[in-house]
Amino acid sequence: MKIVVLVKYVPDATADRQFESDHTVDRAGVPGLLSELDEYAVEQALQLKEKAEGEDVEVVALTVGPEAAAEAVKKALQMGADSGVHVTDEAIAGSDYLATSQVLAAAVRKVGESGAVDLVLCGMASTDASGSVVPAMLAERLDLPQVTLGSVIERQGDQVRIKRDGDTSTEVIGATLPIVLSVTDQSGEARYPSFKGIMAAKKKPVETWSLADLGVDAGEVGLDAAWSKVEAAEARPPRTQGEIVTDEDGSGATALVDFLASKKFI
Ligand SMILES: Cc1cc2nc3c(=O)[nH]c(=O)nc-3n(C[C@H](O)[C@H](O)[C@H](O)COP(=O)(O)OP(=O)(O)OC[C@H]3O[C@@H](n4cnc5c(N)ncnc54)[C@H](O)[C@@H]3O)c2cc1C
Repeated sequence: MKIVVLVKYVPDATADRQFESDHTVDRAGVPGLLSELDEYAVEQALQLKEKAEGEDVEVVALTVGPEAAAEAVKKALQMGADSGVHVTDEAIAGSDYLATSQVLAAAVRKVGESGAVDLVLCGMASTDASGSVVPAMLAERLDLPQVTLGSVIERQGDQVRIKRDGDTSTEVIGATLPIVLSVTDQSGEARYPSFKGIMAAKKKPVETWSLADLGVDAGEVGLDAAWSKVEAAEARPPRTQGEIVTDEDGSGATALVDFLASKKFI
């Protein structure tokens, strides 16, 4: 069985993030890392591998991104993925969802040349652009069924049962592999790389592919080919300090009610 897990390299959400002059996210000026939400996808891929006793399961971590995005693949390898693929090409910079999914689809197809891909596992959204659309676009491009927002995955042969938690109900979806599946942050704590895992990752194979390797026309990706454009972007103003109502002389309750009334809460 072959699982491709998508790992996006994103700017660290805790860093001081900025926008470029064209309103896109400044991805070079801040440290990056593997999108936290993709760590859950890596974890689920590794658990499927561990539960498949006696069966050969290969987990391939795939990223599309600049040179530094190799770090996302490295982290997945340290966690336990078997091999990595890094698609990088200057022409990809500024790509929108359509172009990103096109490159990812071409890469998944190429991974499949050395053995069919049974499962493409993704995060529920990236922690930077948060589009949540790439898995659906990828499924369409690969002509595969898609299940979104899975929290529990059980597999028997080519059959999978995926639990989806909604606000008012829980669904269990049955599907036949191959599929594209996105998982939520409720799917289980992602493991930390162990020292052994970190050392082992150094010897794991990583392929670096360009657009030419994938047969994707550079003119179809990048900012100039984007179907959508970021028209404006500005940082949210910092949160203002809340109002503290003290109750030194017994008037606290009245002050609280007055405050709520002034905000039209009551
Ligand atoms: C005009 C414009 C310019 C842009 N320029 C850039 C740019 O230069 N660089 C950039 O990164 N984004 C850029 N973006 C945003 C870009 O479109 C999205 O980052 C990209 O398509 C993925 O969408 P998302 O991050 O919202 O992913 P989502 O749809 O939220 O991702 C869901 C899941 O898909 C997988 N996934 C998504 N993207 C990747 C990836 N690249 N590699 C591996 N797995 C992935 C992950 O598993 C992720 O959890 C630009 C957008 C616009 C409109």
